Amino acid sequence: MPDQRGGPDGLTSLDQLKARTMACRECPIGEFATQSVIGEGKLKPKLMLVGEQPGDQEDLQGHPFVGPAGKLLTRALEDAGIQRAQVFVSNAVKHFKFELRGKRRIHKSPAVREIVACQHWLEDEIALVQPAALVALGASAARSLLGRAVPVMANRGQWLPRADGREVLVTLHPSALLRVDPEDRETAIEAFVADLRQAQRLFRR
Ligand code: SF4
Repeated sequence: MPDQRGGPDGLTSLDQLKARTMACRECPIGEFATQSVIGEGKLKPKLMLVGEQPGDQEDLQGHPFVGPAGKLLTRALEDAGIQRAQVFVSNAVKHFKFELRGKRRIHKSPAVREIVACQHWLEDEIALVQPAALVALGASAARSLLGRAVPVMANRGQWLPRADGREVLVTLHPSALLRVDPEDRETAIEAFVADLRQAQRLFRR
């Protein structure tokens, strides 16, 4: 059974998590982002999906997975037989890291030390949301959820245990699929849907 104890910071609501992460400067990312972005969706869900960090649109709108990767994720979930309204979606890192190229803000992956710095906020969120199981979307999420480096391609479609008793399904981040050559993209999306289908059985119980 999942651990029912609270998170490391003793928060009692997602509003508190939003306020505390807005003010957080425990790593350099927070200073440059518009705002922190915490997760949204169903509480006490069968599944909580965790990505890497907010993107450009998420940073501006203040909501997770609302950009192109989010749209792809919603579609893939539906193809796997899971409605997005049934799950909670969030990110390992709560602020958007980017570099400026002209006026464009280009996504930059968080460093390991930044993922580690933000990990306690994710643990607070898990304690508040109380999911039965988790999905790690990509290497940053897998590292944060499992506390170690996890080779994603070698472990995709597999359930790995966490210390709190919850299982974590490992798969790619949907943004990785957007970078696949167009002629190979549908095949890559089908493989992603097949990974997510591993979690669909949770909804039949
Ligand atoms: S990314 Fe996380 S650790 Fe870094 S400043 Fe934002 S909330 Fe704090």
